Amino acid sequence: MNASSLVDPSLVQELVDANRILYNEGVLDAFGHVSARHDKHRDRFLLAANLAPALVGPDDILEFDLDGSPVVDTRRRLYVERFLHAEIYRARPDVMAIVHSHSVAVLPFSVSQRARLRPVCHMSGFLGSGAPVFDIRDTAGPATDLLIRDRELGAALAKSLDRHAVVLMRGHGSTVVAPSIRLAVYRAVYTEVNARVQLQAEQLGPITFLTVEEADATAESNEANVDRPWLLWQAKARLGST
Ligand SMILES: [Zn+2]
Repeated sequence: MNASSLVDPSLVQELVDANRILYNEGVLDAFGHVSARHDKHRDRFLLAANLAPALVGPDDILEFDLDGSPVVDTRRRLYVERFLHAEIYRARPDVMAIVHSHSVAVLPFSVSQRARLRPVCHMSGFLGSGAPVFDIRDTAGPATDLLIRDRELGAALAKSLDRHAVVLMRGHGSTVVAPSIRLAVYRAVYTEVNARVQLQAEQLGPITFLTVEEADATAESNEANVDRPWLLWQAKARLGST
């Protein structure tokens, strides 16, 4: 790890595992990224250098400040969209990990003018009353490349996210936040699952969604068991890389 300060090595390893799991479970492909807040400096976060997530190892994890600048000078290429991580950590002290992905089942809900991504099953209660959609056009006009390229765009995305766990990004993807790496991975996987189920249910007619109270209750009971899927996904990802 290329860090200026002593970060818990188990946090770095968990972040490496998260990169591989998210690739393995079909949330990330060659693109997208996952970060974690630094365990000793709350105004810093850990994020890989510009690599496909499945190829990330401990030496690729870099440390950033909340302006999105690397704490230690590096010649490594950086993810353009690191500002979305920086500004969400700044705006949301409760957030300890963030997954940004372009996962395909979620994308239709980022562009639909009618349907909203809402929890359809008990595994995705963290979606609460439904995921807000961030439209970059509202902040930066109609001619961007849709990427969160600077602090201003990162701050606008964080504002759309508000107190939610998931924000969709129009024509681009989604960003998921959580109080731990394990929960961020769980929520990213089940955001994609919920999107698939919701798209299928739409074919059958009107949908009965979870109430906000059901969403809260199911989130609480399922997320207490996050180690179960994490250990399975971790074992699968490690088997796949040997
Ligand atoms: Zn992106």
